[in-house]
Amino acid sequence: MKEVKSPRKPLIYYYGVVLLVLLVFNLIITPLLLKQEVTEVDYGTFMSMTESKNIGQVQVEDQQIVFTDKDGKNVYQTNVMDDPNLTERLYESGAKFSKDVDASTSPLLSLLITGLLPMLIFIGLGQYMAKKLREQMGGKDSLMFGGIGKSNAKIYVQSTKGIRFDDVAGEDEAKESLAEIVDYLHNPQKYTDVGASMPKGVLLVGPPGTGKTMLAKAVAGEANVPFFSISGSEFVEMFVGMGASKVRDLFKQAKEKAPCIVFIDEIDAIGKKRDNQLSSNDEREQTLNQLLTEMDGFDDNNGVIILAATNRPESLDPALTRPGRFDRRVPVELPDLAGREAILKVHAKKIKTADDVDFHTIARMASGASGAELANMINEAALRAVRNNRTVVTEADLEESIEVVIAGYQKKNAVLSDQEKKTVAYHEIGHALVAAMQSHSAPVQKITIIPRTSGALGYTMQVETGDKYLMSKDELANKICTFTGGRAAEEVVFGEITTGASNDIEQATKLARAMITRYGMSEEFDMVALETVNNQYLGGDTSLACSAATQQEIDKMVVSLVKAQHEKAVQILKQNRKALDALAKYLYEKETITGEEFMHVLKQETEAEKQ
Ligand code: ADP
Ligand code: ZN
Repeated sequence: MKEVKSPRKPLIYYYGVVLLVLLVFNLIITPLLLKQEVTEVDYGTFMSMTESKNIGQVQVEDQQIVFTDKDGKNVYQTNVMDDPNLTERLYESGAKFSKDVDASTSPLLSLLITGLLPMLIFIGLGQYMAKKLREQMGGKDSLMFGGIGKSNAKIYVQSTKGIRFDDVAGEDEAKESLAEIVDYLHNPQKYTDVGASMPKGVLLVGPPGTGKTMLAKAVAGEANVPFFSISGSEFVEMFVGMGASKVRDLFKQAKEKAPCIVFIDEIDAIGKKRDNQLSSNDEREQTLNQLLTEMDGFDDNNGVIILAATNRPESLDPALTRPGRFDRRVPVELPDLAGREAILKVHAKKIKTADDVDFHTIARMASGASGAELANMINEAALRAVRNNRTVVTEADLEESIEVVIAGYQKKNAVLSDQEKKTVAYHEIGHALVAAMQSHSAPVQKITIIPRTSGALGYTMQVETGDKYLMSKDELANKICTFTGGRAAEEVVFGEITTGASNDIEQATKLARAMITRYGMSEEFDMVALETVNNQYLGGDTSLACSAATQQEIDKMVVSLVKAQHEKAVQILKQNRKALDALAKYLYEKETITGEEFMHVLKQETEAEKQ
């Protein structure tokens, strides 16, 4: 979950503030409180008060005389006059000569002001700071248990209205799997009667931003039970040396509130395999052990269900995933086309959209986007509408926002030379034309050569008609050919190559490699796995599982595979040189063209050629 946290101020900061306040209090406020107001009187009054023996303390200075009355309640001040017998008369009147004339305050009051008051302020401020600190850590809608240091920051009970399954669009399989848990929390009797026990732990696995946190909250919302949540990284980062005791604490509270949901986000932060000797982390191991102990410790049917989320399931310690612990795994995958449309619609409810917005098209354009990214796109579109002084969000806003999320904002004043712009136009058309010639259908949604803040000088938005779950060997080869099409166009037209193809090269190589090492699409290696994927949900980097000699051979095969496709692309473009020129010119002039425009120009050219 992406939350913007206000930066936490260290505790020392608060103590500093309290000390400062105390200092100010003692230096300025206390003397002010103690000192009574000084009344200015004329010398005559002073003389008559002396006469009537009504002077308490007196202090004669160079310029002024400060004195109090007999009771010492009021302080007066008068200017010094030339009065030689003054000292004598004052002495006779029974006045006390003193260096620091003050109205006497009752001892109790002064004790109160100098001692008790600062103490009270100190305590009050301390309480206030502690409260603020807790609020900062826990968020406003949270209800804390215990004080600082006892309980974890993010453990909280959510208000019952919370999130429901309906708020989570798509992810039907995940919801189905979790609905059983909701049912169990509603009616445990039904399950205990048969002797069935609920899994204690459910692991939600999937790429970031696919709604794992949302789903966990929705389970609590649907079942109407308290929701405790903490992030695994907090155990190890925020509460150094206290991870294990935090776990104990968490479960103690959860058991008191059962039935309830405990959600541990990023469980891989504590649940990593315990086998790497390189960087042994005692702290984390203790925390993990405590977690395992707690999970074993409670009965099957005590009503505490632990949901945990991770995007590196393969790195989890097997002890954590064995039966009796996190034994159910719910995949939360990136949304498919229908899922994306549903998510867009859910989030579009929060903004004002024009009536004619076609979410299906938008969903198609946003292929590969996660739920969080889609939510972000909707918001970007709304911001764009506001920027343009409109009150509703149009389809154009949404389309632009997808590009913003994918490629960054348009660079308004990028200085592309004319030659560069031409090169980019040919490059992008090269991709599209190679793709079109292979598939004989509109290959692109949109092509643009407006530079973006991400550094892309232009890009081609591919069409995705539906979801594709299988790719044939030919299709993969064609895809590599399309990747090389940009560079091929540069070669065919300018006879020179540029740096603009680096991303294409990377992708083509990755694909070619996967064909050989993972998909078994080479004759030499047949169906042998030569590479394994490490991080399915985070980039999908791979590690080799073969000898160095084999690796060398793989490298050679990758090269020849890419090379063959590159040559094919060059041939395609050479054969369609006229169309290439016409399309590149068209794109150069218009800067952004749609898939339909592309096909239209292409058709014109091919027909002209036939005649
Ligand atoms: P994760 O925990 O998987 O990283 P979150 O549950 O924190 O993802 O989702 C982040 C945000 O993305 C949510 O607050 C929500 O706005 C949006 N989102 C993600 N998936 C969905 C979905 N399936 N339906 C609706 N909104 C979603
Ligand atoms: Zn390219």
